[in-house]
Amino acid sequence: VEPVLPSTNAEMKLRIAKARHDLADGDVILAEVQTDGKGRHGRKWTAPVGGSLTMSMYWSFPDGYQSMAGLSLLVGVAICEALRKFNIEDAQLKWPNDIYLNGRKLAGVLIEVEGQIGATAHSVIGIGLNVNVPDTQYDVGQPHSDLTGYLGETPDRNRLAAAVIESLREMLPEFTQQGFGKFVPYWEALDLFADKKIVLQMGDKRFSGIDRGVDQSGALLVETEDGITRFHGGEVSLRGI
Ligand code: ATP
Repeated sequence: VEPVLPSTNAEMKLRIAKARHDLADGDVILAEVQTDGKGRHGRKWTAPVGGSLTMSMYWSFPDGYQSMAGLSLLVGVAICEALRKFNIEDAQLKWPNDIYLNGRKLAGVLIEVEGQIGATAHSVIGIGLNVNVPDTQYDVGQPHSDLTGYLGETPDRNRLAAAVIESLREMLPEFTQQGFGKFVPYWEALDLFADKKIVLQMGDKRFSGIDRGVDQSGALLVETEDGITRFHGGEVSLRGI
């Protein structure tokens, strides 16, 4: 645990580069305060002092980064599982990497990876979760929720971190060996837009259809008049309409 870090993901990546053999799967870096947190595409992640759970876990994939397909979805399932221990039963997932509560964004997942084709992939699983980030005080750029607002009291951040770490360490070995397939029904049961109309934005391009869940690799299945189209994570942003 560090008091202040620019970004727990950046710190973990430094450790991977420096001391490749020092890290064990499931090792975690936590920061009390993160001053330069990032979302996808370098977007900013807001984490006020003491109000956010910001952590990064190391996990290696001996079969290379191809075997990481669906990882951000699995992490979402693990976070929802951890939240159940705090009597939060109705968190939902927005493909590919966000956790929603009360229809607003509660947490984000940022996966980064270092590795080459055919060699072990060293992944960093970054999580930012709003514990006490009142929307009356903080504008994070889109509607957001926090655990304090939902529960009416602030849960213990250490216990919350422990629950998230435990649930990740429980699910990741099976995911690493067998892939995302087994977790598809768990993810689909939590899907914010299940069977709803959605719009996908890819750069300047838009694509709309109905959300029909995900395949074994975590790709989103979108139904249009022409049938089902698959979308892989990365450059795609999703909205309901
Ligand atoms: P989106 O969530 O807009 O669909 P995304 O999944 O690509 O896109 P991320 O890159 O995961 O988003 O996260 C960055 C975005 O999250 C920021 O652009 C901002 O809108 C939002 N954000 C930043 N801080 C917080 C926070 N503390 N809580 C909720 N949302 C936040």
